[in-house]
Amino acid sequence: MSMIEPSAQAELVAAFANTLDLDDETDFLTTPADAAGWLVAQGLVERPAGLDDRDHRMLLDLRAGIRDALGGVTSADRLAVGDAVLRELPVLVSLGATPALRPAPTLPAPRRAMATLAIAWSHLVSTGEADRLKRCADDTCGWVFWDVSRNHSRRWCTMSVCGNRAKARAYAARQRARGSASASTTNC
Ligand SMILES: [Zn+2]
Repeated sequence: MSMIEPSAQAELVAAFANTLDLDDETDFLTTPADAAGWLVAQGLVERPAGLDDRDHRMLLDLRAGIRDALGGVTSADRLAVGDAVLRELPVLVSLGATPALRPAPTLPAPRRAMATLAIAWSHLVSTGEADRLKRCADDTCGWVFWDVSRNHSRRWCTMSVCGNRAKARAYAARQRARGSASASTTNC
């Protein structure tokens, strides 16, 4: 069986989505300075280019939209807000150059970084990788993971943690239902 490895673009989108960790209650993009630091660490901007509040808002809106799109259950509002961000990130197509898509060079550095994220997203969608990159079905987790299952059927980031937690909840719910059912039987 050949393992399907995520492309660099898929890894970038996953890293971006997972800057928010619901389980740990951490967010690497909390402030504009945090966000600038993350963009530098990812090599998306060359040096700490200041993000203003508007850039920061755009970055968070883009992340919220991408996280929703990966979650399957989508909020039309967040997708629309994410799309509004994307409209402000022009991309240049070139016949001769590699890569064929790149951020418009006229964009300021923070916007170029966001346009690079947008290009990575378009790569995921056009290659079908978006089907393998998923957000954990456990809403308290929401971790974005690469699904290596053959039919792309995995729902939880880890079966041992989130999968079992979901099963335990389902079991408890069944027990409760059974309990109330037998209680009502007894009452009759
Ligand atoms: Zn999870």
